[in-house]
Amino acid sequence: MAEIQLENITKRFDDVVAVKDLNLEVKDGEFIVVVGPSGCGKSTTLRMISGLESVSEGTIRIGGVDVTGQEPSDRGIAMVFQNYALYPHMTAKRNMTFGMNSAGSFTDEEIEERAMSAAEILNITDLLDRKPGALSGGERQRVALGRAICRDPQVFLMDEPLSNLDAKLRVQMRAELAKLHDELGTTTVYVTHDQTEAMTLGDRVVVLDGGQLQQVDSPQRLYDFPENRFVAEFIGDPAMNMIAVDVADGTASHPAFTIPLPDADSLSVGSSVLGVRPEDLYLADEREATSPETFEATVSVTEPLGDSLLLHGQIEGHEFKIQAQPRRTITPGDTVELGYDPDRLHLFDRDTGEAIYHSDPAVSVTPPGVTQ
Ligand code: ATP
Repeated sequence: MAEIQLENITKRFDDVVAVKDLNLEVKDGEFIVVVGPSGCGKSTTLRMISGLESVSEGTIRIGGVDVTGQEPSDRGIAMVFQNYALYPHMTAKRNMTFGMNSAGSFTDEEIEERAMSAAEILNITDLLDRKPGALSGGERQRVALGRAICRDPQVFLMDEPLSNLDAKLRVQMRAELAKLHDELGTTTVYVTHDQTEAMTLGDRVVVLDGGQLQQVDSPQRLYDFPENRFVAEFIGDPAMNMIAVDVADGTASHPAFTIPLPDADSLSVGSSVLGVRPEDLYLADEREATSPETFEATVSVTEPLGDSLLLHGQIEGHEFKIQAQPRRTITPGDTVELGYDPDRLHLFDRDTGEAIYHSDPAVSVTPPGVTQ
């Protein structure tokens, strides 16, 4: 096991800056997930850690050692890819152990022992003599993981390892990966564009956009205290509602409503954007009143999701998504009374998108202009 340090890492492909001045410390034994939209630089970051891609600027350390110029094979890492990268003509066992004795670092007995132990952990002992063509997608992915485990690396690097699996198997393998990490405790960097995977697997989650670090935090803190509008809208599904407001003396005003911002009496930041998650809006008749006031909205679309009813509600031409309780008979055109959780409001700078204020009383950040 080992910690990883990325210091001022930049990667350029001709005129494309794929990763820009990235600083990140992954702790020993930590499971870090790198998430972001397509093209944000996730895979490039992982490939630079692995050594498959050179860095344009910056330093990478693994276990305190500067590995920036080292070959991938010298870095003590093992990679698991989306496409499994198995040799079709080799058995599962051979795929797992292939190349291990070329460096002379393992005896035949050690290799056999490691293969059997990895197979047991992954529950594929019965499949070791099969070739990849005779394995299901999930089984192939286990073999690919087995190959990484056999090497007992300092670090696992995983690039969208579950993407080729169907939805049900993905959920199952996700839980198995979490269990595997609990058992082995190996430092892991895991790349995905799937925010559910990021939230469920990561001790901490790194959010990238346009090659730049947006926030690195625990999953819950990303959800509760996004540092900017990009993170607020990327984490959480359906995405956070955003609405332009004017803020003066702790009150957010919109032509259709005014909302008092708790514990922010002196906050006056003018034009800004108020964020509220669909799950923090509710139909007023569904809860004991916590909302300081309620608003009328006209329902334009209803989406029954089974465990909830997603409503699209219009207030003065502005659309909000509201996660209501399931099994309600609400139809488009109905007028509903909306409440909101006053402790779950967010405010962002209209130009920079930086977070200005979160109403959660647990937040430790004092917004600008607020005296306490
Ligand atoms: P995805 O989720 O689609 O795989 P990603 O976040 O992993 O995306 P990267 O593959 O790291 O994104 O790519 C980041 C940026 O660098 C993109 O704009 C991509 O087009 C560019 N890029 C990546 N590899 C190369 C390359 N070999 N040559 C030129 N540009 C590249």
